[in-house]
Amino acid sequence: MNLIDPILEFQTELQTIRRTIHAHPELCFEEHDTAELVANKLTEWGIPIVRGLGVTGVVGILKNGDSGRAIGLRADMDALPMQEINTFPHTSKNDGKMHACGHDGHTAMLLGAAHYLAQHRNFDGTIYLIFQPAEEGGGGAKRMMDDGLFKQFNMDAVFGMHNWPGIPVGQFGVTAGAMMASSNEFEVIVNGKGCHAAQPHKGIDPVMVAVQIAQSWQTIITRNRNPLDAAVLSITQIHGGSATNVIPDDARLIGTVRTFNLRSLDLIEERMRQIAEHTAQAFDATVEFHFKRNYPPLINHEAETAFAAQIMQDVVGTENVDIHVEPTMGAEDFAFMLQEKPGCYVFIGNGEGDHRMAGHGLGPCNLHNPSYDFNDDLLPIGATYWVRLAEAWLART
Ligand SMILES: [Zn+2]
Ligand SMILES: [Zn+2]
Repeated sequence: MNLIDPILEFQTELQTIRRTIHAHPELCFEEHDTAELVANKLTEWGIPIVRGLGVTGVVGILKNGDSGRAIGLRADMDALPMQEINTFPHTSKNDGKMHACGHDGHTAMLLGAAHYLAQHRNFDGTIYLIFQPAEEGGGGAKRMMDDGLFKQFNMDAVFGMHNWPGIPVGQFGVTAGAMMASSNEFEVIVNGKGCHAAQPHKGIDPVMVAVQIAQSWQTIITRNRNPLDAAVLSITQIHGGSATNVIPDDARLIGTVRTFNLRSLDLIEERMRQIAEHTAQAFDATVEFHFKRNYPPLINHEAETAFAAQIMQDVVGTENVDIHVEPTMGAEDFAFMLQEKPGCYVFIGNGEGDHRMAGHGLGPCNLHNPSYDFNDDLLPIGATYWVRLAEAWLART
């Protein structure tokens, strides 16, 4: 591996920063202490900052030379509302909150790059260090954009990175095009007419209608969707009724839809609505149809992905970069940034979990698992990637 020596020398300090953040997790838009830590470090290292975009967001501004070029590097800072079961010393001190997605590590890796870049300044242009809140469902990336991130700071491209358990340490994965799915949720209420269950002819049974809708929706995936476009339609909750002998007034269908492009998403939403409305009509019932688009699909831009892949290959070797990594149906709000700016999002291998010291809980080291821990071995790898990417991007011809 081709890691930067001063970053390796800084590894112990980076690990301390990472574990401090891990021990003090904060949820969406409440990352006050984490933002304070980030702001203090950047200031201590002589990097000007702007705070408050997306409530708790922090942007570090590293300028050198007189080139007008600019690049954005983004890390997320928030944790999850879940109980950590690890018992090692840096386990969560905040009950019911946990860094189970490794955003503590993402923040530390970007800080590691910031520290090196501020000291060595081997670049010409501007590097924006974007520390965003609320990736876990809060759409913090979008909030920072709504607060003027790209208007206030004019960058040519923006890059993101997520640790990925299962990919060995020292390896990266990336793919051009769709890498993560759009995430959407729906709630459909079927309104019928309640009555005695022994006299169904006196009412309109919403449970029966809901079941018909649920069955028919699956034909959208098998009969309407282009088989070459991956998509998921999962009904995760069906509610209705409260007694064995009462037909209720209404029933509800709740769930999620995932797609890798907006074309499939438009199709699925439209067909779900048609099927729900027409099925209800066929049984004399009515529906209220609610469909909410949370995160769009994450689409890596071709040229920036090729550029990022080259940097990763320079850092860890060609054989250690999977440039056709399998996309995932998970979602990520960095997708909003990639809708507005060219750029690329990559996975950095977090290993299989054997990095965890004694005191971790049972279970695998998967993301969102109560015994997950970010792998500190990644800190210099991720920080080196950020540095080399920024330097090369600003120097490209
Ligand atoms: Zn997560
Ligand atoms: Zn995450």
